[in-house]
Amino acid sequence: MIKREGLVDYHARVRINHTDAKYQNEKLNLDIDINNLSGRQIAGIRFSMRSYDVFGDLILTEGEETHVFSIRCAPFEPAMRIVLNYVCSISNIPMKIDLQAEEIHFSDGTAEERERPHKKLYYYQELEPDNAKDQEYYMALRKFFHRAVCFAEKRNDGWLCTCGRLNRNRDEVCPECLEGRKKVLTTGTREAVKKQMKAEKDELLHKRGGRFFFHRG
Ligand SMILES: [Zn+2]
Repeated sequence: MIKREGLVDYHARVRINHTDAKYQNEKLNLDIDINNLSGRQIAGIRFSMRSYDVFGDLILTEGEETHVFSIRCAPFEPAMRIVLNYVCSISNIPMKIDLQAEEIHFSDGTAEERERPHKKLYYYQELEPDNAKDQEYYMALRKFFHRAVCFAEKRNDGWLCTCGRLNRNRDEVCPECLEGRKKVLTTGTREAVKKQMKAEKDELLHKRGGRFFFHRG
């Protein structure tokens, strides 16, 4: 097993993975690679954007220091990752872009503004599929969780999913892999996996015993 470090923001509704900017003739073509962590269907996002030149000085986007724009993205399902495209005018070649999701509009008509981050650093033990000791556990976990990398755990400040993400206690579904908390905590813990493996071995022994008996008879 390898010790891994994770970082989650308990206040984040989306996660901007990266932005890809192409500049041509004072136009900026922006691709925003983004994940829905809210657990709800998103209909639109209002962004704010500040751009800086090679000297670190602020440059104007659509004539503004802070450019605010909205993109409709329905239906942006929970745990999905999409790329949003936005084209705007910009006064110079941007070297750095600060992009924030300021407000999320959900498909049910409600909206939520960005909150101050509530970051949590946590650790977990990742199973190594190439390690003889871990392999059996890894395979057993993968039977139930297609993105499993570790055992699930109930913790004081949340629940560790088998995909390695720490979720809040009130999260019913992991926004990273879409597995439900109930299934994760009943099937994906170390104890549950061990129990399941033992049950399978017992059943196999039983079957072999049965066949053996049959042949003899
Ligand atoms: Zn997960």
